[in-house]
Amino acid sequence: MADFIRAECDVLVLGGGAAGCLAALRLKELEPGLRVVLLEQAALERSGRLGTGLAVLSPYLHQDESVESYLAHLGKIGRGPVDGTMVRPLLERGAEVLGRLTRLGLPVETKGSEPARAGRWGVPCRGGDLKPLLAHGLVEAGVDTLEHVAATGLCVAGRRIAGAIGFHVRSGVFHVVGARAVLLAAGATAGLYRSPLAESSPHRGAASPFNDGSGLALALRAGVELTGLEYRSQTAVLAGSRAPVEILVEEYGLPVFNARGEALPFTGADGLAAAVLEAETAGLGPCRIETTGLSAREAKRIVARYLESHPVAALCWAAEGVSPRDEPLEIALSEPAVGGLDSPGGVAVDPDRRTALTGLYAAGETAGGTPGKGVVGVFAEALLAAQTVAADLERLKRAELDEEWLVSESRRVEEPLLRLSRVGEGIDPHELELRMRRVMDAYAGGQSAGFRIEPELLEKCRAELDRLAEQVPFLVCSSNHDAVLCLRARNRLLVAQALVEHLRGDREHGGSKLLRSALDPKTGEPATN
Ligand SMILES: Cc1cc2nc3c(=O)[nH]c(=O)nc-3n(C[C@H](O)[C@H](O)[C@H](O)COP(=O)(O)OP(=O)(O)OC[C@H]3O[C@@H](n4cnc5c(N)ncnc54)[C@H](O)[C@@H]3O)c2cc1C
Repeated sequence: MADFIRAECDVLVLGGGAAGCLAALRLKELEPGLRVVLLEQAALERSGRLGTGLAVLSPYLHQDESVESYLAHLGKIGRGPVDGTMVRPLLERGAEVLGRLTRLGLPVETKGSEPARAGRWGVPCRGGDLKPLLAHGLVEAGVDTLEHVAATGLCVAGRRIAGAIGFHVRSGVFHVVGARAVLLAAGATAGLYRSPLAESSPHRGAASPFNDGSGLALALRAGVELTGLEYRSQTAVLAGSRAPVEILVEEYGLPVFNARGEALPFTGADGLAAAVLEAETAGLGPCRIETTGLSAREAKRIVARYLESHPVAALCWAAEGVSPRDEPLEIALSEPAVGGLDSPGGVAVDPDRRTALTGLYAAGETAGGTPGKGVVGVFAEALLAAQTVAADLERLKRAELDEEWLVSESRRVEEPLLRLSRVGEGIDPHELELRMRRVMDAYAGGQSAGFRIEPELLEKCRAELDRLAEQVPFLVCSSNHDAVLCLRARNRLLVAQALVEHLRGDREHGGSKLLRSALDPKTGEPATN
């Protein structure tokens, strides 16, 4: 039987990205006497989406904008249903978020006494060191951190949270943390669909490899509902590095041409994905961003902007010894994604960020119901969730940990390791994920299916995913690190199954929702058909 290292706390935060770090800091600020434990599966200084840097803080309401104008913008660009009660409290905290980040030491650009502008809703920043700043802040504030520990399961007692169990990625030791409240902040879900651009490494560029959907999978396994997974989004990315194109088309306003040399009509990066899809469907791909008119100074500045936010693009240019202005940059479309930056998919929460399970909360890209959050919204949601947790704590009593369940959960995690020594062979987690992505791509509206959802194919997808789920007991691995890869494969498979159920339900109500490509590329408005 596995040995457990045990700890008790008031609040356990699962995931040390933007949301988890700021929520933990805010909790200590609200109640310095609280014992707050933060559990992160990687190294806090560079984990999560912010680990690779950030160039723009958004959405921020500049002086000439309002909550209403942002809500109208969200409605217009079609990122899924927009619920003002969910979005408004985040927008209202924008200035507070910027103030806090500045105090942590983040260089935020200003113009006069106001934050400078990057596009309509952004503030430029040099965010390369934001993650180390947050990690340092946690130490200063007295948050107990457990790094390299992946949460594998939530301990539930009746309809109350009791804590969580995690697996040390290096030592293989299990950590059991009892808590009165648990905040899920484990990020988004990437890698559900095959990426034609990078089949063996599907997270390069656009999304963090740690975004395995574990926040959603943890919630599902604890009986908590997910919401809005049927709203899938896609982005236009640079073909070589898969870095987003906002800096080029929004900040620099560069035109985009199809293979016939015709300019694509589009409004912002939101409309661009739709325009590219239209061109490709008409056989007029690939599309390219016209960068050859840039001055050497502008090109240098663009490289610097990418270095701050998506270094993979800058590194690709450096490795090839080219400048972005040497020749037009080819655009590709990302595979569909659920939740995260664009869509409202995630764990169902109420406007105060409580889930239906007493003592369990969610914030950041794990929490659903709020499209278009951006990093400012994620930080604001962390502040909101921390406030709710602090207010609820008085009535939250510690619940008993179910020892039998802890043992069975540790066995679930160790099984692929034990199986290898017992049987000697089995299914590799990479292989399972690869098969899952191909199934999703072909039958659940991936790129090769033209992003279309067909009811019969969806049924086939469901059956194929069920077949893959039957293979899970045969997973094998030879190291603790690979045991975590097995967990990731299982998490993704579970979320993919949930996504298919959401898509099926959606079909019954008359539609399939691929955000952005549902926009009219010319107007940036939702298409009428
Ligand atoms: C390509 C891309 C570009 C973006 N660009 C911008 C931009 O320009 N401006 C902007 O405002 N926003 C941008 N965003 C959005 C913004 O960066 C994210 O919304 C935000 O950083 C997400 O924070 P998070 O804490 O919710 O998730 P994450 O940053 O993903 O953090 C989740 C953390 O949880 C950890 N974790 C996951 N599972 C477990 C587990 N089981 N146990 C323990 N730990 C776990 C992960 O390792 C990670 O550290 C971008 C996002 C992407 C993907």
